Amino acid sequence: MWATAPLAFPWKLLGALRGPLGSLWGSLAPLLLWLRAALRLGLGWTHRGQGRQDGPEPEGAGEEEEGGGGPDGPLTPTSVNYHFTRQCNYKCGFCFHTAKTSFVLPLEEAQRGLRLLKEAGMEKVNFSGGEPFLRDRGEYLGRLVRFCKQELRLPSVSIVSNGSLIRERWFVKYGQYLDILAISCDSFNEDVNVLIGRGQGRLNHVENLRKLRRWCREYRVAFKINSVINRFNVDEDMRAHIQELNPVRWKVFQCLLIDGENAGDGALREAERFVISKEEFQSFLDRHRGVPCLVPECNDKMKDSYLILDEYMRFLNCREGRKDPSRSILDVGVEEAIKFSGFDEETFRKRGGKYVWSKADLKLDW
Ligand code: SF4
Repeated sequence: MWATAPLAFPWKLLGALRGPLGSLWGSLAPLLLWLRAALRLGLGWTHRGQGRQDGPEPEGAGEEEEGGGGPDGPLTPTSVNYHFTRQCNYKCGFCFHTAKTSFVLPLEEAQRGLRLLKEAGMEKVNFSGGEPFLRDRGEYLGRLVRFCKQELRLPSVSIVSNGSLIRERWFVKYGQYLDILAISCDSFNEDVNVLIGRGQGRLNHVENLRKLRRWCREYRVAFKINSVINRFNVDEDMRAHIQELNPVRWKVFQCLLIDGENAGDGALREAERFVISKEEFQSFLDRHRGVPCLVPECNDKMKDSYLILDEYMRFLNCREGRKDPSRSILDVGVEEAIKFSGFDEETFRKRGGKYVWSKADLKLDW
């Protein structure tokens, strides 16, 4: 009795309040659920099929978000970089995806993998290498590009290339299926390009870049430039050239060391002499502060904010400063393989990984 008496009053009180509390909860519940959903979106947590497309990319940031499982959901491969070949005709001294194999998947298998990625939520694919135009003079690449746009209906299909092997007939045949073409160019001084290894024979890399710019305009492909800032170009002023070429984005990377690729045991390059400090990279960015299309990427951002698929369709985890492969999505599926990708969606979001990436939405005046 002594034990139960003190509890009797609260129980009675609760009983009396049950009715009013119940109706209060009934009216608050929808509001709380709405607040929870809004907070999730604000923090960039979305689940499959709930992504959103924002307006044009803000200057230098591209802070759009999307993509992926929340803290309790599976990762979504919203934006995938498929390095289907490691072979290249250039010999850049800092290359961090080197010719360690000559393997390329049969076209049908690559298409099967791309379909799996689409089913898992992929919205953007970027084809890269090595040099992606090397295989069958760009035919293999063109067929993948067309497949992704025509059959998979991906909002964005892009390519990163050194540009040296692209012919106009490729644009005629496949340009309509391509959203963005990014060309690597680290210097507007041809001697520096040769020093870096971005050059071959008599082809002038900068002149070729200008020609590709013209073709992109003519065939309605958004044009982008990628530059790796390193010991040999860190003091260069590229403002006038970039403004003249007027790319939709100018991605500026800090030269990165990856164990087993361009540094350490088993590497095909020794890139240590190309490396620059964070401060040197920042001084390059400060010099180019007024260039609106510049999107900077320091080493910290690069390591875990990309979903990289290698030539076997394995995700490459770069968190430990080397490329550790998952199992192939062709063998275990996307959901299982992506667990080992090391992908950090928060960093992806912070670096502006999701931006306006479909040429239909870019509203270019070409
Ligand atoms: S063009 Fe690209 S893939 Fe080829 S060697 Fe240079 S960095 Fe490597």
